[in-house]
Amino acid sequence: MDKISVIVPCFNEEDVLPLFYKEVTHVLESIENIDYEILFINDGSHDHSEDILKLLAHKNPHCFYYSFSRNFGKEAAMYAGLENASGDYVVIMDADLQHPPYLLKEMYNSLKYEEYDCCAGKRIDRTGEGKLRNFLSHSFYKVIQKLTKMDMDDGAGDFRMMSRQMVNAILELKE
Ligand code: UDP
Ligand code: MG
Repeated sequence: MDKISVIVPCFNEEDVLPLFYKEVTHVLESIENIDYEILFINDGSHDHSEDILKLLAHKNPHCFYYSFSRNFGKEAAMYAGLENASGDYVVIMDADLQHPPYLLKEMYNSLKYEEYDCCAGKRIDRTGEGKLRNFLSHSFYKVIQKLTKMDMDDGAGDFRMMSRQMVNAILELKE
């Protein structure tokens, strides 16, 4: 049976964590023949996120949480999640539901049955995000694409499900 690990970096997410948990477990439990774990990485939150995560871990044996001693940033939280995930497929998701949980099933199917190593969500609509932020975001990708030879897709972020093979390859890069 395949296991899906969901990694969730959390910084001051007390308002949304119960809803996130409800939505994500609902989707995961609807996927047939899989086991799952949800790894919350509490990145030095100042609010009651840790108390909520403690309750979730107590309530559901598929839920785990790790707490950093201070805020190290999302990348450190994602890396800690990757190091501790035991799934055959690993997905990184924001806690604030900006990464739609209903896509998990589709992502899993494309990795498993079409044998891809990675399936990423891409934003095609930035409505509601403010003009300045949109401008800065688009500018960032333009500059990165000029500075490097890499084709970084504007809108494809870190909401992605990866095969175990890909996770192991990332973990070999210690930087
Ligand atoms: N996050 C984190 N550490 C930080 C900042 C953010 O773990 O120092 C988490 C946050 O809780 C959320 C995800 O990273 O789950 C994305 O953060 P946010 O929604 O603020 O980013 P944006 O929507 O601007 O990409
Ligand atoms: Mg967000």
